[in-house]
Amino acid sequence: MNAPVSGMTKATTYLALPKGMLINGRFVDARSGKTIDVVNPATGAIISKVPAGDKADVDMAVIAARAAFDKGVWRRKKYSERADILWRWTDLILANIDEMAHIETLDNGMPLASAMNAIRVGVSTIRYYAGMCSKIYGHTSEISGGGQEYHAYSVCEPVGVAALITPWNGPFATACTKSGSALAAGCSAILKPAEQSPLTALRMAEFALEAGIPEGVFNVVTGYGEAAGAALASHPDVDKISFTGSTAVGKTLVRAAADNMKRLSLELGGKSPVFLFNDADMSEAIPAAAMGIFRNSGQVCFAGSRLYVQNDVYDNVVSELAQFAEKVRLGSGLDSQTQLGPLISEQQRSRVMNYVDSGKSDGATLVVGGSVIDGPGYFMKPTIFAKTGPAMKIVKDEIFGPVLVVERFGSIEDVAGIANATPYGLGAGVYTTDVSKAHRVAKEIRAGNIWVNCYGFTDKTLPFGGYKQSGWGREGGYEGIDAFLEKKAVYVRL
Ligand code: ADP
Repeated sequence: MNAPVSGMTKATTYLALPKGMLINGRFVDARSGKTIDVVNPATGAIISKVPAGDKADVDMAVIAARAAFDKGVWRRKKYSERADILWRWTDLILANIDEMAHIETLDNGMPLASAMNAIRVGVSTIRYYAGMCSKIYGHTSEISGGGQEYHAYSVCEPVGVAALITPWNGPFATACTKSGSALAAGCSAILKPAEQSPLTALRMAEFALEAGIPEGVFNVVTGYGEAAGAALASHPDVDKISFTGSTAVGKTLVRAAADNMKRLSLELGGKSPVFLFNDADMSEAIPAAAMGIFRNSGQVCFAGSRLYVQNDVYDNVVSELAQFAEKVRLGSGLDSQTQLGPLISEQQRSRVMNYVDSGKSDGATLVVGGSVIDGPGYFMKPTIFAKTGPAMKIVKDEIFGPVLVVERFGSIEDVAGIANATPYGLGAGVYTTDVSKAHRVAKEIRAGNIWVNCYGFTDKTLPFGGYKQSGWGREGGYEGIDAFLEKKAVYVRL
């Protein structure tokens, strides 16, 4: 293990401490007294316990968030003060980056280098939105005429109490994107991390208090989705939900939010296609396409899970992909040699293995992988299927594991039909050295993110989100903060 000792020691000390949820500026137990075991997916060991918050705790958090919003302790602060406090928050997180990264790795299983990167990216996202506190503008409108003169303008106001529901696959980064944009907009926030990986959210809550985010403005409620998450979704005093997770749960939120017409931002699933043309730079394209699905053990909403390879290079590409997959190093995220960590849980691994079984019984050719690693932890081998067909479940469903299907395509004329034959529209990739072909493909595919000669890179300055059943709205860029703002038009007759 090459982990920096101090980060690991601090993380294990933190894990051993009793954990409370942050409600109204205090760390508290669930009112029921119940807890959730937090498991290290690389070992299967219980590493901590967090409160199992439910409706009673959500009610308390919403009361606190609403009171803070109504009193204006945050939204009425001068924009520069809000920005300073958010920036101070990130300074505290960064000062403890080793500890934070170790917590993320122990909690989620991702390689430590990925966790370090996630902390840096999360921090820079909060800072980006801190800078936006001073860039929330309305506009004026020249509407005079017909004998009436007006001074008319629009203003942006925070939407109110925002519930931020995050998934387990990128716990810290998603928490930062949502918290940074919600708080910069002036909202009060209740963060509900996934029950499988709640720890960095609780640690960042401590730094939030220390940084001076006023009580009630930032709350963290840990708990199961069907208890704490569902209570937030149906709560009449929550104005907005920003959710990242599965399309199935996204649809339940749409229904639950209907009663009080909550605003919804939904970042949902995907089954993203990648096209590898015969003119691509194979030495770059093949490893990039492989990591486009295998990164984070395939537990990425925009994973490039459907690979289409041009006919004449298909056999060669499949065999090189298989060689790559066989060489990928699996292991504990704390080992610096590890490229791929475990899946998040036994439940998730058996879900993925059921897909492997369905691929085999549907007649697809298993090229490589398709098995679990014996021993502790929830590891499975990177898996590639060839000779699949569009009707197979492994080609249609989001698997959320390291499983790639590789099919053939003929020419650029086939791309739109293949790519868009899915209810999803989150991401797509194209590998080619022909610039015109790349732009044509980017134009044809109905998806929120297109990657050319790379895959899965995102940046906070650009809108991230999906077409069709991959979601509603966008995070990142100005769109990200706009999702937490209401617009008001003011007409003054002169
Ligand atoms: P995944 O498939 O990535 O586990 P989920 O959609 O199940 O995604 O979970 C993402 C987040 O949504 C988690 O924080 C989870 O607790 C929460 N969640 C799950 N079910 C519900 C629900 N019925 N209502 C609200 N939140 C939920």
